[in-house]
Amino acid sequence: MANDIQAIRGMKDLLPDQSHAWQYVENVFRNLMSSYGYSEIRMPIVEKTDLFKRSIGEVTDIVEKEMYTFEDRNGDSLTLRPEGTASCVRACLEHGLLYNQTQRLWYSGPMCRHERPQKGGYRQFHQVGVEAFGMAGPDIDAEMILLSARLWQVLGLKSVVLQINSLGTPETRAVYRTQLVEYFTKNSEQLDEDSQRRLNTNPLRILDSKNPAMRELIDAAPNFFDTIDEESMRHFDGLKRYLDEAGVAYQVNPRLVRGLDYYTKTVFEWVTDKLGAQGTVCAGGRFDGLVAQLGGKATPAVGFALGIERLLALLEEDGQESPVQDNHAYLVLVGEEARHKGLLLAETLRENVPGIRLMTHCGDGSMKSQFKRADKSGAQIVLLIGEQEIQDKVVSVKFLREDEPQTTMTQEAVIDFLKARVINQSQANILI
Ligand code: ATP
Ligand code: MG
Repeated sequence: MANDIQAIRGMKDLLPDQSHAWQYVENVFRNLMSSYGYSEIRMPIVEKTDLFKRSIGEVTDIVEKEMYTFEDRNGDSLTLRPEGTASCVRACLEHGLLYNQTQRLWYSGPMCRHERPQKGGYRQFHQVGVEAFGMAGPDIDAEMILLSARLWQVLGLKSVVLQINSLGTPETRAVYRTQLVEYFTKNSEQLDEDSQRRLNTNPLRILDSKNPAMRELIDAAPNFFDTIDEESMRHFDGLKRYLDEAGVAYQVNPRLVRGLDYYTKTVFEWVTDKLGAQGTVCAGGRFDGLVAQLGGKATPAVGFALGIERLLALLEEDGQESPVQDNHAYLVLVGEEARHKGLLLAETLRENVPGIRLMTHCGDGSMKSQFKRADKSGAQIVLLIGEQEIQDKVVSVKFLREDEPQTTMTQEAVIDFLKARVINQSQANILI
């Protein structure tokens, strides 16, 4: 194909040599979620634009300049989802999932934001997200953090640290907002262009400006903990106690605000210094007002989302490779008759050896070229059928990666032999 048609900037193909690592992380996550009693929910990738405007906030980066919004053929304004929480709440309300009950949910899938493409920042990226509804106390906040900590532990991820903060109730945040506007207005000559703009729209966001020139000004800004309400403080202290008891280390970062408007009380991020400016791997918090804001009965809620691209980049930085999923065996077939016998043998093996990864050679090819393909497929073993094997009613077994002599076996013996190997190996990789 002429290369004038290419993927859209900032959107990446996931190639076969990368997909194993993705599946590994996704499987670990799925198993983890079931160990905490969470159920999966899947939402459409397109929603009405208003859903995001009403939930994420009109004056956030996402809604102001990052959404993929378009008119469909009916003239309705639709948007490719930039995040999952809004859709998740919408789905819960639409299907009555929050009616007199709590919910623990997770989702995963692509999200789209028209940001500047850079390392760790894409226009289509992938998140796994977790949301819990109907629980108001800090124990569920702690559960969210503990389950993310367990995910790092299972994956062997070391270089992330936990930052937590409280944004209080909407009322105390409004008071704090006024203090910030006052402070930054007094020092407005020191504000960069972005912050000037945010001063009147979303002054809290100035606090998480990534511009080093703003650092000093931001460090000297009023501290929210001087203004926080008693209930939010108690909630925050409660969370800290759970974390202390569980031995999860954290830093309180009073400058931690999130890019979405709907957060209340607890917010947290897992950050790393190994990915440059895109250092947040996982981020979330409490959003007690969102369900009511979208038309439901007031329902406390807490959740987080984690970026799979960043997680995988960090696993690589940390030298943590995902377990390889090479083929166990490759079937080399020499001659027309062998091709017929071979296709049936392959089916018998798949039926009788659970978990086997077996590739059959298709088409012509000299023994030598077939062995080359076998090697390239990553297979550990070649099962060979040629004229001699057909005559003797056996299969030859050749080891590609081990120093073992070639041998021949009956079909039944091959089944037993492969069963034992596959079981041994899957015990070594119990998670996948
Ligand atoms: P950041 O400040 O890092 O841009 P954000 O506030 O936009 O983060 P959220 O909307 O909370 O992030 O998204 C949660 C997670 O999703 C992030 O921590 C990150 O891992 C991932 N993520 C967000 N935007 C992108 C992107 N454009 N490309 C890749 N991953 C992303
Ligand atoms: Mg962002």
